[in-house]
Amino acid sequence: MAAMSNAHTAHATSPDAPVETRQGVCNLCEAICGLTFQVQGKRIISVKGNDADPLSRGHICPKAVALKDLHEDPDRLRQPVKRIIENGQTRWQTITWDEAFELVVEGLARVREQHGSNAVAVYQGNPSVHNWGNITHGPMFFGQLKTRSRFSATSVDQLPHHLVSHWLYGHQLAIPIPDVDHTRFMLILGGNPLASNGSLMTVPDVRARFKALRQRGGKLVVIDPRRTETAAVADEHHFIDPGTDAAWLLSVIHTLFDEELVSPKHLEPLLDNIKAVRDAVAPFRPETMAAHTGIDAATTRRLALELAQADGAVVYGRMGLSTQAHGVVCQWAIQVINLLTGNVDREGGALLTSPAIDLIQTRLMSAGHFDVWRSRVRGAPEFGGELPVSVMAEEMLTPGKGQMRALITSCGNPVLSTPNGRQLDQALSKLDFMVSIDFYLNETTRHAHVILPPTCGVEHDHYDLVFLHLAVRNIARYSEAVVAPADGALHDWQIYTELARRYARRIWSVERASTRQRLTGMLTRGIMGRLPPRRLLAIGLNRAKKGLSFKQLLANPQGVDLGPLRPSLVAGLQKRGRRIDLLPLAIRQELPNLMLTFPAVATSPAPSGERPTLKLIGRRDVRSNNSWMHNSERLVSGKPRCTLWIHPRDAAAQHLQDGQTVTVASRVGQVRVPVHVTEDIRPGVVSLPHGWGHDRAGTDMKVAQAHAGASINDITDDRLTERISANAAFSAVPVWIEAA
Ligand code: SF4
Repeated sequence: MAAMSNAHTAHATSPDAPVETRQGVCNLCEAICGLTFQVQGKRIISVKGNDADPLSRGHICPKAVALKDLHEDPDRLRQPVKRIIENGQTRWQTITWDEAFELVVEGLARVREQHGSNAVAVYQGNPSVHNWGNITHGPMFFGQLKTRSRFSATSVDQLPHHLVSHWLYGHQLAIPIPDVDHTRFMLILGGNPLASNGSLMTVPDVRARFKALRQRGGKLVVIDPRRTETAAVADEHHFIDPGTDAAWLLSVIHTLFDEELVSPKHLEPLLDNIKAVRDAVAPFRPETMAAHTGIDAATTRRLALELAQADGAVVYGRMGLSTQAHGVVCQWAIQVINLLTGNVDREGGALLTSPAIDLIQTRLMSAGHFDVWRSRVRGAPEFGGELPVSVMAEEMLTPGKGQMRALITSCGNPVLSTPNGRQLDQALSKLDFMVSIDFYLNETTRHAHVILPPTCGVEHDHYDLVFLHLAVRNIARYSEAVVAPADGALHDWQIYTELARRYARRIWSVERASTRQRLTGMLTRGIMGRLPPRRLLAIGLNRAKKGLSFKQLLANPQGVDLGPLRPSLVAGLQKRGRRIDLLPLAIRQELPNLMLTFPAVATSPAPSGERPTLKLIGRRDVRSNNSWMHNSERLVSGKPRCTLWIHPRDAAAQHLQDGQTVTVASRVGQVRVPVHVTEDIRPGVVSLPHGWGHDRAGTDMKVAQAHAGASINDITDDRLTERISANAAFSAVPVWIEAA
């Protein structure tokens, strides 16, 4: 592929320009740490944690400096490009924004006219919620597509959380957040906050917060198939067999009833079906479940007792739980444990947050709906208007009415982040049209016909609409852009505004629309196009009437402290006359089948000469989050991190040495990686990190290519999904290994 011309002048600056200090945030992960930048013109000189930030309190991790790398990266696209094939060779040509918008609108409209609106699909990656212009202005464009072929990173790793909150508390975002700063007992399953700084729990500076927990006499317990960074600082860690967390959590609920530890306290008047839950979990005795989970009954009963007796306790489970066959049961069981022990909506337990812009109260975000329609090929249920990513490739590859033939990706690299990435790779190569709103030519966007690159994080302002909803302390914080964008660059909200305007004009030229529809559309786009996100924020704060103005936010760039989490769930539910049904129908129907799906734990190695089936799990480390971070030399340097962790027992069974390259095979494919032999993983389990696999041709991320690694999603299986929601099931994928 010929290299594109991509003038790299964005950070050029005069050496005489004054050095200035600016406050901003890091939007790379959910922790959204406050940062202090030293800037000279358009050049970032240094990045430090902001001690005055009321949430992150000066915390910073190695990824924050990648904001500078990203800003300066010569591989980052700064102007739109289109793909051209000449003599069988692909080349990318820089084009004007005007030409790019026209190509995109024409490409999408043509597919819609020929094949219907569901033939145009959308995939939004997880940075979509880290860049607020996507949230404020994206819906204006996506709504006009009128497509049911919507996908996002939600069904990669967190759909069970939203579904359970929707059922229990009436809104997909009503997720009670662990009160880490006041709890006296925290039990974590399938989460590694020391690497992630919290997920669906924004908790920067988590190491210091866990230290404080223990200093006030509290206890931290981790249940995980791997001795994670978090497990290493916990009071207790217990290995569990991957995919059996539901069995263990149900045995904890069983114990609460069995040992008369159920005490919902202030929640009791709200709870329906307590006795039905008791009956449903009756078969899940810790003594029986131990054979599946690998955690002995005495430990389970003791932990249930400690949890019930603590003065403020909370169970938190994250990605490892949601991405398994029983992810919804896991997340439901966690809520039930917290509710039955009276630990929801109380200090030290799990509470809803009170953000300045409340997406639930203001109804800016839909409460969610489930299974209103199903996917065409497999019949997987929608949630909140989106289908699960596991069905995305088959919806493109399977002919018939409604086949997806065009795709819009926004801030995502689903070839590396969704199950069976090779299949998706193949599906993308067959699309009639594809556009990516992204600033990298990566493993996914290389299939696009046009790429529209928005400004990067330090070039636009930021207010966190989503993660302040999930933070362990209530704060409000608005940050101006740290450096000015290059001339002619567009923010994501401007890209969406222009796409919406041109697409509506194009569609209405051939489709019938009532005068009222046209006027409403024109009015919305006219107003929204003139209102940047910051104006919408100012209006929202005014309407919220919480005594906080945009002026105050401007005067306090480090953030305004709105205090610790406070009880609000019970009052909110009572106000709406709503009760909590502890046993939603889908769970009631699922529990009787659950026992049948857990095989007993293998207690001895496979007989000599047999290739044993191992269970694959994922892994995240502190220097990585999304795949593009592998294009920052400082985040990938050092010892290779894309290694397969394996227990010495399993390595010895196949005569493998540390560092030796193996082939890991699953139903859908195989990868080659070096092994890391370690006792930090349970026997019978192997682990690979995500986001690697930069060996595909046609990308333009040179650092990432040099540290290619292998993509775990070349061996995860699109047919393995969570049983109720069809979220991807990345945990406990059966694999086989042999020396390469
Ligand atoms: S933990 Fe690191 S990546 Fe996450 S917001 Fe803070 S500095 Fe950025």
